[in-house]
Amino acid sequence: MDWADELAASVTGPQVVNDSKTPSGTVHVGSLRGPVLVDVIARALRANAIETTFLYGVDDLDPMDAQALLTPDAVEAAMGRPLAHIPDQVADGHDSYARHHAQVFIDTFAGLGIHPDRYYWMSEIYPTGAVDPYIRLALDGADRVREIYRRVANVRHPDTWHPISVICEQCGKVGTTIVTKWDGERVWYECRPDLVAWAKGCGHAGWVSPFGGRAKLPWNLEWAAQWSIFGVTIEPGGKDLSTAGGSRDRSDAIAREVFEREPPINVAYEFLNIGGRKMSTSKGRGAAAHHIADVVPPEQLRFLFVRPRPNQAIEFDPDGTDAIPRLFDEFDRLAAATAGREVKGELPAGYEHVFRYSLLSPDADVAAEAAAFRPAFAHLALLVQAPGVAVAERVAAEKRAPLTAREKEILRERMAAVRSWLEAYAPDRARVQVHDTLPEAVVDLDPSGRSYLAALAAAAEREEPASGDAWQAAIFAVAADLGLVPGVAFEAIYRSFLGRPTGPRAGWLLASLDRAFVIRRLREAAGSAVGGAV
Ligand SMILES: [Zn+2]
Ligand SMILES: [Zn+2]
Repeated sequence: MDWADELAASVTGPQVVNDSKTPSGTVHVGSLRGPVLVDVIARALRANAIETTFLYGVDDLDPMDAQALLTPDAVEAAMGRPLAHIPDQVADGHDSYARHHAQVFIDTFAGLGIHPDRYYWMSEIYPTGAVDPYIRLALDGADRVREIYRRVANVRHPDTWHPISVICEQCGKVGTTIVTKWDGERVWYECRPDLVAWAKGCGHAGWVSPFGGRAKLPWNLEWAAQWSIFGVTIEPGGKDLSTAGGSRDRSDAIAREVFEREPPINVAYEFLNIGGRKMSTSKGRGAAAHHIADVVPPEQLRFLFVRPRPNQAIEFDPDGTDAIPRLFDEFDRLAAATAGREVKGELPAGYEHVFRYSLLSPDADVAAEAAAFRPAFAHLALLVQAPGVAVAERVAAEKRAPLTAREKEILRERMAAVRSWLEAYAPDRARVQVHDTLPEAVVDLDPSGRSYLAALAAAAEREEPASGDAWQAAIFAVAADLGLVPGVAFEAIYRSFLGRPTGPRAGWLLASLDRAFVIRRLREAAGSAVGGAV
């Protein structure tokens, strides 16, 4: 996390950090990377006693350009209209399509400890007249804007093209209009049926004032105008915007050469990939930010984004995998390291900062948080499924001390996460049902499997393993003693308890059960005759 602290150390004077989003549909969990990074930057600045304002904007005058996201009856009318002018497709009380998707996303922020000082909606900013001076500069400097597009992005607009989109007075669309003249007070625009392939203009044309919310700047100019209007000094940008000649380069040049202001410091960041793909905002399947936030508690979700440096892509594929349990394990590992305990494996640079910035509150007692007892996620996942386990007592016994109020809270949060994970994302092997009686599947055990189970029962009686790690160690040691590959050992255990050949980590499975029951079952399975016990 050195990068945020280095950034905070490199600036002087009051800072305004900003992030914004076009609410074009269900917002994917990867879109939380921007808000989390801005929050981390704001925390680092404030820790350096720098006066900081944190803004979050919604670019809701952008045109609707994705047909697939509309109900069929809305397509004709809505394509090309500002997102803020399209009715909510879900009848749940939002003023517009844009409000719905932006609000559902923004509602996750507070739960993640992200508290912008101010939200702004571009559909509300334009009518105030705040953008008018920049619209005038852009139109007066249309020549220079066209030259910037040519030079920076190799995009050639016709000589009559002006950098403004009027909201058509007749059909209400903004994506279909083009302005070709500017007389210093009004623009001449046409709403063309064929300007873009994704929306059809109505053919209307006329002179109109572009001020006070009647027109919007194209995205690159609007972005640069936001920097001037709000005094933005730092703004992270996704990799897609930060490529050479991309959006950020264009907006930087427009800020400098048209609006005569130095652009904010950029912190370019990589995407979060789900299953190796960049999840697109517009698909919105299974990885919506608000769905993931329902399963992954806030500190682990912050950790997902805070652990890698901004320029590292994040691979996160929670569906049917152990990605969520692994996220918890890594969080717990860095917590333990921060508390000064010895941990396995290499530690990332600045791991204490990573842990600190993952905490919900910037004022948290980091040492106390790091030292708190946290039961492993996979262990809890088995405990909640094991018959007759009093989980809280069991966890206190493993801690060898009563749980503190904070630890009880952590446990409650994890139990809820475990249950949601088992319901929504867990692979089948993680869902277990321990059989009350000897499963039929033991008939398939061969003699080496049976002698293994007998030897494991003896070892368990002798060594009294009490934790998942201790059971795991015993499982491997007994297999090694008998010269068996671990696979044979694991299969024998799964068949004896779950009635199937595969399962979750066997040591943790056995640790979730009563030891006397485990030993009894191991002996029972070891003694069952081949072909019998049906
Ligand atoms: Zn709604
Ligand atoms: Zn029109």
